[in-house]
Amino acid sequence: MKVLIIGGVAGGAGTAARLRRNDENAQIIMIEKGPYISFANCGLPYFIGGEITDEDELQLQTPESFHDRFNVDVRILSEAIKIKPDQKTVAIKNRCTDETYIETYDVLVLSPGARPVSPPIEGADLDHVMTLRTIPDTLQIQHFIETRKPQKAVVIGSGYIGVEMAENLCKAGLDVDMIEAQNHVIAPLDAEMASFLHAGIRQQGIGLHLNSQVTAIRPDQVVLNDGRQIQADLVLMSIGVKPETDFLKSSGIELGQRGELIVDDQMKTNQPDVYGLGDAAATKNIVTGTTRVIPLASPANRQARITADVICGKSVRYQGAQGTAIARVFGQTAATTGESESTLLRQGIPFRKSYTFSNSNAGYYPGSETMAIKLLFDNIGRMLGASIVGGKGVDKRIDVLAAALRSGLTVWDLQDLELAYAPPYSSAKDPVNMAGYAAGNILDKMMHPFYAEDISGFGPNDVLLDVRTLAEHRDGSIPGSVNIPVDDLRHRLSELDDQKHYRIYCAVGLRGYIAQRILVQNHIKASNLSGGYTLWESMDRDSCFSP
Ligand code: FAD
Repeated sequence: MKVLIIGGVAGGAGTAARLRRNDENAQIIMIEKGPYISFANCGLPYFIGGEITDEDELQLQTPESFHDRFNVDVRILSEAIKIKPDQKTVAIKNRCTDETYIETYDVLVLSPGARPVSPPIEGADLDHVMTLRTIPDTLQIQHFIETRKPQKAVVIGSGYIGVEMAENLCKAGLDVDMIEAQNHVIAPLDAEMASFLHAGIRQQGIGLHLNSQVTAIRPDQVVLNDGRQIQADLVLMSIGVKPETDFLKSSGIELGQRGELIVDDQMKTNQPDVYGLGDAAATKNIVTGTTRVIPLASPANRQARITADVICGKSVRYQGAQGTAIARVFGQTAATTGESESTLLRQGIPFRKSYTFSNSNAGYYPGSETMAIKLLFDNIGRMLGASIVGGKGVDKRIDVLAAALRSGLTVWDLQDLELAYAPPYSSAKDPVNMAGYAAGNILDKMMHPFYAEDISGFGPNDVLLDVRTLAEHRDGSIPGSVNIPVDDLRHRLSELDDQKHYRIYCAVGLRGYIAQRILVQNHIKASNLSGGYTLWESMDRDSCFSP
């Protein structure tokens, strides 16, 4: 069996290594158009910021070490330019000599990844405008910083790579502005969750320009759609990626609208013996059942293993992706799994939601940090998505939630998870358990929630009731609210009007829940603000309520 693999990084090298473990006799050729294989794309921003100092650390394997370990014929600086599936041939251009030759295959694996999108903006081709995908891109940015000594960087786009690059350019000593066309950073988060990040980003002195588009790039500035001009000695373009599949266009291999490879759950394309995976391939989303590209390293690696196993005759199937992702954002951590509220709305999928705020570990133990958790679930409690923003411990909670979502657990199952606890690490009721309790209370109708965005629609019959302490209320409150601290509520029920609907809030929703239970059991209509004043204030500060 002669297997030809196009692309030598996560998907390609992963497939090659697993193939060799499966089959010592296969002939495996791996074609890579760049000078490196199997490099750490995900580590590139941290090399620019100086946390990773040794360039060699970015290469997990060299062509030589990969050959020695796996007996794979690795050809770098070799670009596949044309594929003829009917003849089972690939035309390959040697980028050193510019010569083209034809290679045959029995099985072809396509893992060409995705390239940064470059919008048709005036000045996008200037030499201080860069993108980040490969080691040469990284070295180019580093060289530019060392030789041209830029003071001001502008990062266009604030997805995971954009925010990581903003942070690392900052660490490299540059003043950074971020330009984002949407109203929040990190698109897979919802705006209210991202609002916690915005405050942190601005506190670092970063100019964060939301709802803004770059219309032109000049040698020393970028121009925004509202006419503002921002100084920019270095511009990093990071507005998303697009499957690197132009070379497949006339091959007969089926591509989607954005050029993504259409594959089945065994990574097979429409052409016999041709497989596709990684950032270039669309796969099933386990929550919505739709297919889309999820350009992340974990799916690419899992798909690589499955591709190799299927080629070798195993009957394994790719179950799909859920987009679990995490990023450090100027000292905070943002993480998501499954769908966001905005994607569920867009797809018309009904959902319920809850917000909880929990400490990373026992509050009495020094050093605990808060995290905000948003759970999205359906009417029978099945998880649809989760996002977390906070400090310590976000990573392990998102992984528990990702595993729960993948396993089809419900919010009641989250209540029942027995998670490791000792004061330095967690609380006896872990943040995941607490999120499950809050969501379960909503479905059980123990807690009648309302949400910050509902407030503007309240009528004369709705009374906003702040059940925090008087001091907290004086420190800041939702306009129009009255204050009765929860501990006084039972004695002051006579002050309430049983014809009204009390819209209760506290700091994060816990005291509000207790207050709501008191009122409901006294036959007074009441509901509780999920996420409390903390979430409302962050959304208000961030203009989330503006049309
Ligand atoms: P790639 O890794 O892009 O590899 C494709 C290779 O194919 C490329 O080297 C390309 O040169 C080669 N190629 C393309 N066309 C041809 C051709 N015609 N002929 C020959 N070779 C070709 N994911 C995470 O999950 N977490 C992270 O923290 C994270 N951080 C990232 C940070 C950065 C800066 C970048 C760029 C990506 C990051 N990712 C992260 C995404 C992750 O790296 C990708 O999902 C993963 O590498 C995809 O693997 P792939 O094999 O599909 O594509």
